[in-house]
Amino acid sequence: PPRRLQCRLTTTELLELITMSAMDSTLRTALAEKAKEITKRELATYAERTASSQRANARARKVLPLGVPSSFQAYDPYPIVVRSAHGPNMTDVDGNVYTDYDMGFGALFAGHQNPLVRAAIDTQLGEGTLFVTPCESNADVAEMLAARYGLPMWRFTNSGTEATMDAIRVARAATGRDKIVKVEGGYHGHHDEVMVSMKPSLDLAGPADAPFSIPASAGISKKVLSDTIVIPYNDARALERVLKSGDVACFIVEPIMENIGICLPDEGYLQEVREITEHYGTLLIFDEVKTGITAGWGGATGVVGVTPDLVALAKSIGGGLPIGAFGGKQEYMDLITSGKVIHLGTYNGNPLCMAAAKAVLSQVCTPEVTTEVIARNGLLVNAVSEIIHDASLPAHVVQFGAKGCVTWAEKQIRNYRDYKASDFDLAFAQWIHGINRGVMLPPGLDEQWLISVMHTDADALHYADVFETFVQELTA
Ligand code: PMP
Repeated sequence: PPRRLQCRLTTTELLELITMSAMDSTLRTALAEKAKEITKRELATYAERTASSQRANARARKVLPLGVPSSFQAYDPYPIVVRSAHGPNMTDVDGNVYTDYDMGFGALFAGHQNPLVRAAIDTQLGEGTLFVTPCESNADVAEMLAARYGLPMWRFTNSGTEATMDAIRVARAATGRDKIVKVEGGYHGHHDEVMVSMKPSLDLAGPADAPFSIPASAGISKKVLSDTIVIPYNDARALERVLKSGDVACFIVEPIMENIGICLPDEGYLQEVREITEHYGTLLIFDEVKTGITAGWGGATGVVGVTPDLVALAKSIGGGLPIGAFGGKQEYMDLITSGKVIHLGTYNGNPLCMAAAKAVLSQVCTPEVTTEVIARNGLLVNAVSEIIHDASLPAHVVQFGAKGCVTWAEKQIRNYRDYKASDFDLAFAQWIHGINRGVMLPPGLDEQWLISVMHTDADALHYADVFETFVQELTA
């Protein structure tokens, strides 16, 4: 039959639909216009409120590229420069106080200066900070991670970057293969082989189901680039297609992507990933640097019920001190025991970071407290969802454990391409409106909030209160 005869809608219903979609695009245009207006006004307020930050940044620019120690800390119009942080709060050099929802890019689940972490660090300071011969707390912390992740053997590093780098080396040694697979839009630290298709521009990125490998920085060799294959997240067929050749050492993936807001796996995706990687003899590495202990007591691994071959951790396990770790199944970690894989580092397992990690893992982020904080985050998620729903905004909230985010898209995103289609003008307007009212959110618009164990209900809900005033103005 002709296509139009297949339509079961009456003419009146069709007319209604057309009117609604016209209204939809009118509403979008109105929101975009309003967002620009808010941004313009708030940029002026930001400049007034943060004059000392601006001066400090101008000074720093003369001696540090972009005026910052890591390019992630450079954001528009210029970064807030902070003097101190306590509990859920930070104070900048102008004396402005913020409720911190960034929490060190998600590294401070314990909160700023958690008293138990601080006491452990204080005690350790009196006993020494670096021995370069083992301390007893190395085994204490490794045992705690083994219990949480169900993986028996661990090694420590100083960052998430090192943890993923070392895990990849183990995978290559275990398989005798060079190639690795990662997802488009995935971030795994700043070593060359994973600085590929982090946030590629879509005009270079190639087909959505078979993206090109795009270097995220100059200085990455063509040889390294040619060993990193990029696939879309939530596409098990794409994974199978690239593993078929039998030359892939590992698939490194965040089980829940947390560098494009929060991108959840489709039902069954990770189980399929596990089966496919096993079938082709490719190791599965879960990068839990962010999801780590914030997703639940046993990390995302525990929540999704899929056991990878290796796990990379960092951030929140250190309570604010620089630490990373990778752990795995006996047979893979035995490659280090046998000396086939060499894993090194002067500061690995240093007693100061170990003391902090031990306090975090055993005293601060207990199973009970973790559950409690996740429930507190649920209050915030519900409050923000209600505001979005009542205002019929083209946005939604995603929660994973103690983290959450507002994504400015109607439908839940499933991969990097969906994320790129979200509304960044609205996201920036919300961010700058919030920071001028004491809501410190990650600047990248691609990160998420973290409720720490030191946020009270009122601290958590402060975000929703400020968000409500933003939405009122946006929709007025
Ligand atoms: N993996 C993921 C998922 C991350 O989010 C990050 C840091 N944001 C890293 C690895 C790298 O960790 P680090 O910054 O400690 O090197």
